[in-house]
Amino acid sequence: MDKARIKKIKETLVKKRPLVIDKLSKEDKEQVFEFCEKYKSFLDQSKTEREAARQIIDAAKQKGFVDIDTALAGKTKNIKKVYKIFQGRCVALAILGKKLSQRGANIIASHIDSPRLDLKQNPVYEDLSLGLMKTHYYGGIRKYHWLAMPLALHGTIIKSNNERIDITIGEHPGDPVFTITDLLPHLAGKIQSNKNISEVFEGEKLNLIVGSIPLGDDEKDRFKLGVLNCLFDQYGITEEDFVSAEIEAVPSEKARDVGFDRSLIGAYGQDDRVCAFTSLEAFLDSEPSEKTIMALFFDKEEIGSEGSSGAKSNFLEDFMSDLLLISGEDTGNRSLRKALIHSSCLSADVNAAMDPDFKDVHEAMNAAKLGFGICITKFTGVGGKSGASDASSEFVGKIRQIFNHHHIVWQTGELGKIDQGGGGTVAKFLAKFGMNVLDCGPALLSMHSPFEISSKADVYMTYLGYKAFYKNND
Ligand SMILES: [Zn+2]
Repeated sequence: MDKARIKKIKETLVKKRPLVIDKLSKEDKEQVFEFCEKYKSFLDQSKTEREAARQIIDAAKQKGFVDIDTALAGKTKNIKKVYKIFQGRCVALAILGKKLSQRGANIIASHIDSPRLDLKQNPVYEDLSLGLMKTHYYGGIRKYHWLAMPLALHGTIIKSNNERIDITIGEHPGDPVFTITDLLPHLAGKIQSNKNISEVFEGEKLNLIVGSIPLGDDEKDRFKLGVLNCLFDQYGITEEDFVSAEIEAVPSEKARDVGFDRSLIGAYGQDDRVCAFTSLEAFLDSEPSEKTIMALFFDKEEIGSEGSSGAKSNFLEDFMSDLLLISGEDTGNRSLRKALIHSSCLSADVNAAMDPDFKDVHEAMNAAKLGFGICITKFTGVGGKSGASDASSEFVGKIRQIFNHHHIVWQTGELGKIDQGGGGTVAKFLAKFGMNVLDCGPALLSMHSPFEISSKADVYMTYLGYKAFYKNND
């Protein structure tokens, strides 16, 4: 066979793995950078699930979306653009199309919670003339990531008189920050050398330094008292108020460009606010059409989608039933089940990009790489796909066609080698309704660290991919 023929065969048969940046025009590249400026500011404003929920609702309201509960209470009809927020931590948006119970909706579901350190319910104490606060970590963290770095406190406190106080301390240039100490290397050898990493870094030792000026000169616990006095002076809160508070310690650093060419973004909370932001933008840029489209933003994914604001809850069924009601369709149980079963869903979550320093944990042929576009993950789970949601070949085929048709640069990715570990997303909690679900989002380096890395080109391609999915009217 001649060389030209072999070349032709190769071009036809071998799967291509294009780098996004090679496929972009000069104008496209400018758009990528512009889009990511907006993304960075979303990250800076959304360091907790409640803050992300507020950003999402504000953006939707600006585009004319109305609260579905208010609309239903006022018996308002002919509304196409609605939102629902639940417990301030979980959001759904919809643009209504036609025949929801027969056709279902195109749904993109992400999560807006991220790993962090929560303050305990009795946090304040003193030791060695320092005021300290106890934390309880949330989600999968590597504990040593959180030592010797500036941390901010974000949260909500409900006082005994039911007054609600929202705090953000440590984000503005003049604000104080908080920190967890680390052991100096000079003295770490003997204590740490014979222990494994989980023994060296204990959850109970992630305590924040919050002050060092005592109140009075011979009071008992006068350093703790000094801290409580500051808290009362500045925020009007008492020690008991922490019982009804959700306060999260998060990295105080803002989202930054990474690299001489500024092609990457380094920031806290990109898992999974990168998918929340790109799906929000894709959703708000979509026009009303025949098929209903929805964007879901769940809480509690990082701890197994538990609780009333996580994907295991009845939030989606409740919202879907409201949508049937507002569009004048039958709201019986059968119609609700059909609306859910006929829906198609992208479970929008990140995958792990192959790391040049930790290649061994990945299987290179099936690992995602930074810069190669939105990543399709057919199944998640651990070992022999345990706990997985495994998308059907028909649905993967459909998404592949949509992406190819719209020139979306995409790749596939498995989360690590088979016996290495694994993970899950909200996919299986949506798949239980019978709808087609596929995991789909960008890959990150340093996932679950306080400074996760994304590729700007991937972020933009994720936005375009989600937009193409929403456009599909089948
Ligand atoms: Zn995630």
